[in-house]
Amino acid sequence: MNVWCRFILFLCVFAILPGTVYGFTYYGWWFHSGEYQYYVNIDYDPGFNEEIEIEAAASEWNSVESHLILTNMGHTTTAVTGRDYENVIYFGYLDGPGGSPGSVRWWYDGYGDILEADIVIDDEDTFWDGDGSCSGDFDLRSVLLHVFGHTVGLAHSPLETPLCPLMQDLGYQTCTEYHICQDDANGVIVLYGSPLPSMGFPGMILCLAILGGLFLRKRKNSLNRQ
Ligand SMILES: [Zn+2]
Repeated sequence: MNVWCRFILFLCVFAILPGTVYGFTYYGWWFHSGEYQYYVNIDYDPGFNEEIEIEAAASEWNSVESHLILTNMGHTTTAVTGRDYENVIYFGYLDGPGGSPGSVRWWYDGYGDILEADIVIDDEDTFWDGDGSCSGDFDLRSVLLHVFGHTVGLAHSPLETPLCPLMQDLGYQTCTEYHICQDDANGVIVLYGSPLPSMGFPGMILCLAILGGLFLRKRKNSLNRQ
């Protein structure tokens, strides 16, 4: 393999491979503005400061190099009961202890633009903040990371690999912390765009075409020499 083949192969692997490990899937709606502005109803005490966990989960999604941003707009006393033109993170009844620890409900228009998204964290489940001992509690930050992923438009990933569990069906387990992995980040980058240049799928096709051309040229030259 000559130096150009090596260089192009390096570019393909380095610049494109991270964008081709597909597992992320979408619902078909997202915040066309790129911003999720939420209010927090703090009328709940899980035994630690839940707002720190909410902010940490939002910051982790905000750290992805995309045009998506989650913004804390402050406190509210609104409970999530229906459409009220305010995005609220609310600790209240969802399905009782042992069921799903969190859920999101959206309202969106015919173009798939989310108009409102309310999150309910089940106050009948028990939560953990990652410090101290844990006995059968959900890690609140992992639950919020997972539900934020749904909120901004990501559906469950069909990938059955322990490498990237956050957006899989049970992307939250008791006493286990999960974080955003590359596949989750790729999903958000595809939905919301990235400030960084990305070659993506067309780039991959171009790379393969160039590599194929170089290979055929090399093969032709070696046949000519025989
Ligand atoms: Zn889920």
